Amino acid sequence: MLKVLKFGGTSVGTLDRIQNVAEIIKKIKDEGHNVIAVVSAMSGETNKLIEYAEHYTKSPVANEMDMLLSSGERVTSALLSIALNAQGYKATSMSGRQAGIVTDNAHTKARIESIDTANMKNALNDGNIIIVAGFQGIAEDGRVSTLGRGGSDLTAVAIAGAIEADVCEIYTDVDGIYTTDPRIEPKAKKLEKISYDEMLELASLGAKVLQNRSVEMAKKLNVNLVSRSSFTPEVEGTLITKEENIMEQPVVSGIALDKNQVRVGMYGVTDRPGIASAIFTALADANINVDMIVQTVGVDGKTDLDFTIPTTDWETCKKVMEKFKSEAENIDYNETICKVSIVGVGMKSHTGVASKAFTALASENINIRIISTSEIKISMIIEEKYAELAVRALHDAYELDK
Ligand code: ADP
Ligand code: ASP
Ligand code: MG
Repeated sequence: MLKVLKFGGTSVGTLDRIQNVAEIIKKIKDEGHNVIAVVSAMSGETNKLIEYAEHYTKSPVANEMDMLLSSGERVTSALLSIALNAQGYKATSMSGRQAGIVTDNAHTKARIESIDTANMKNALNDGNIIIVAGFQGIAEDGRVSTLGRGGSDLTAVAIAGAIEADVCEIYTDVDGIYTTDPRIEPKAKKLEKISYDEMLELASLGAKVLQNRSVEMAKKLNVNLVSRSSFTPEVEGTLITKEENIMEQPVVSGIALDKNQVRVGMYGVTDRPGIASAIFTALADANINVDMIVQTVGVDGKTDLDFTIPTTDWETCKKVMEKFKSEAENIDYNETICKVSIVGVGMKSHTGVASKAFTALASENINIRIISTSEIKISMIIEEKYAELAVRALHDAYELDK
């Protein structure tokens, strides 16, 4: 079998942990499989590099950020390869470029355009274990690019899809996908399987155990995706798979929390045709991921517009909103909010799911500021200080520990 394995920041967080990863890879290699391992930067490294850049400016030049941040993954890939070679295993590290990963020019949040697998195939044919530096590629402009936070997951899935690997295993510090973040709710239960769509919602709504774009890619390319732990590699993880492969669908599968959200409020906006289009086109052009848009009923030619954005897009959003200053009486930002969401494909065919969520929060005296729903999710904006309490209350309400 050809296995693509991905090891996240904590799994390679120290030199001893890199050795632990080498042991996992050696065992799989000894079982007769071919291995491509994708690695993250050592935990904390990417944040440290971002802080270095922010010493000079809040909005550093994007392509230089990529030059900076991509270094973290390169360090780990080389160290892991050095460790394996030292123990008599033939291994070779590759940067994103050497692995053939070509992206667009959207520096710091680049999209993968294509993967030329020739180099990796040659290295595998020569009997190598390949260690790819995750989270990066080569942009069309010829410079190194990065794939957004958590992007090593995407590297692994994209490679697995392109090279038609048998499985893509994402090794992290928890042994699978739980009904909610087990660090918030210790009663959370591990799922044996979860559908691509539910996992995509959970990931997009804040469950960072898998990067959302990696799940989207896995669904598109039909990759057998597994989430498991590098600390307990003997424990089977969670399979992310097609909905029809899951026999019994619970109404609610999981709860996600996203604290990295800012609510943008525009008050007294001129209520004219085209205003929403102008604002949200400008935000889209700036690559800002807008969510939960609420417009109130217009009164006297004025209306209020609320929406949420990721905290990382806040600076850029402020710049875009400068253009609309004259269109609103006031624009304000609130970052002491968070988004809690419940996700489940069973919602499509069950009633009373939403009311149960609202009742659960009401009984904890938590005020809901914004609600948005889709076919398989309900999201609520609440005050950030109630985040964990809300997650636990919802987990109880849907009896997810049962
Ligand atoms: P890595 O560094 O390996 O990429 P991350 O920190 O990005 O790992 O993701 C793993 C973390 O995701 C876990 O430590 C856990 O706290 C968190 N997490 C959030 N939601 C869930 C969930 N539903 N199931 C499991 N882990 C979750
Ligand atoms: N090192 C990058 C990050 O911290 C990418 C990753 O770990 O997936 O976001
Ligand atoms: Mg991650």
